[in-house]
Amino acid sequence: MTDDQDRTARLLIVGPQGSGKGTQGVRVAEALGIPVVSTGDIFRANIKEGTDLGQQVTAILDSGDLVPDELTSEIVRDRLSQEDAAGGFLLDGYPRNTAQVAHLDAFLAEHGASLDAVILLDVPRAESMARLGLRSVEQGRSDDNEAAIAHRLDIYEHETAPIISVYEPRGIVDRIDGIGSLDEITARISAALGARGIGQLV
Ligand code: AMP
Repeated sequence: MTDDQDRTARLLIVGPQGSGKGTQGVRVAEALGIPVVSTGDIFRANIKEGTDLGQQVTAILDSGDLVPDELTSEIVRDRLSQEDAAGGFLLDGYPRNTAQVAHLDAFLAEHGASLDAVILLDVPRAESMARLGLRSVEQGRSDDNEAAIAHRLDIYEHETAPIISVYEPRGIVDRIDGIGSLDEITARISAALGARGIGQLV
């Protein structure tokens, strides 16, 4: 076929909680053979294992607040320095504010790299709230109670959504309609990445 498969893909998936970015991120990463780096998953795994980091962040995750930028960025640096991320990665949940964008930019620049695409999953707030309410019943996540959900969506709107304005002038943002079936949304992402010469997902 093409040499697309040899291309590294450094991707970020962004969207409000409940946008389906976790599910879509896994699909995209699997199709491209790159690891998903999800800061939320890393924190939850540490809480489950009762590590020092886990104990440090338990209350923060439960409240829906953000873990301090320095700590989060340090964890991401370590993770992205591992060998399996050398050929690319898909970030989910990081960067989550403009300070973290600056941390990531600096880290990637040290390696002569930059993000290839930012997949923005567009889902209205009411739909996110409804989906998260459902997930709290299905998965019993302790940060999926109604107050914490609303708080996390507020943080998304005020702190995370502005990162798009940082990436947009770089011409790397693909805005994807997040309403539809899982397969439809994967196909939209695939088409957008394909137009950038990144992989063939479906
Ligand atoms: P998520 O699974 O991405 O919704 O993340 C769950 C929680 O982990 C968030 O509500 C934050 O408390 C914390 N978290 C995840 N990623 C970050 C990040 N990049 N910066 C700060 N806190 C984060």
